[in-house]
Amino acid sequence: MQKGKFSPELIAPCGMNCGICKNYLAYSRGVPEKKGKLSLCPGCLPRNRNCYVKRGCKKLRRNEIKSCYECDDIPCENLDHLDRRYRSHYDMSMVENLREIKEKGMKEFLKNQEEKYACPECGDVVSVHYGKCYTCKK
Ligand SMILES: [Zn+2]
Repeated sequence: MQKGKFSPELIAPCGMNCGICKNYLAYSRGVPEKKGKLSLCPGCLPRNRNCYVKRGCKKLRRNEIKSCYECDDIPCENLDHLDRRYRSHYDMSMVENLREIKEKGMKEFLKNQEEKYACPECGDVVSVHYGKCYTCKK
C-alpha cells in the first residue's frame, strides 16, 4: 500500500478529490492521451481551473475563501447542483467531503479517501468516474 497518495492540493475548492478523477489519474499514471477520450489534468487547484462552482462564487473568486469548506452556507445552488450530479452518477458527494474536512480535518479526510478508493488488486487508486484502476487496469 502506497502512502500519501492524496495531498491537500488535490482537493478542489468544491470538495472534489482530484486524485480519484479519471483525468488526473490519466495524467499522473501516464495514460496516453490518444487512448479514448481522456483529457489529462494535474488537478483543479494546480491548474487553477476556473470551474463551475468558482465562476458562480464571489468569495472564491476574490480569494476570501480557498475552499467551499470555509464557507458558512454550503451548499450554495451551484455546489448543490454539482453534488446532486455526483451523488446520482458516481455515488460520491462533494458536500459530504466538505463536511468531513470541516469536522475531522484535511489529514483525516485524505486518509479516509485513500482507504475508500484503494484498488483491491494493486492498492493504487480506483477512479470515481469509471471504477477503474489505471495502474493495473482492473
Ligand atoms: Zn489496481
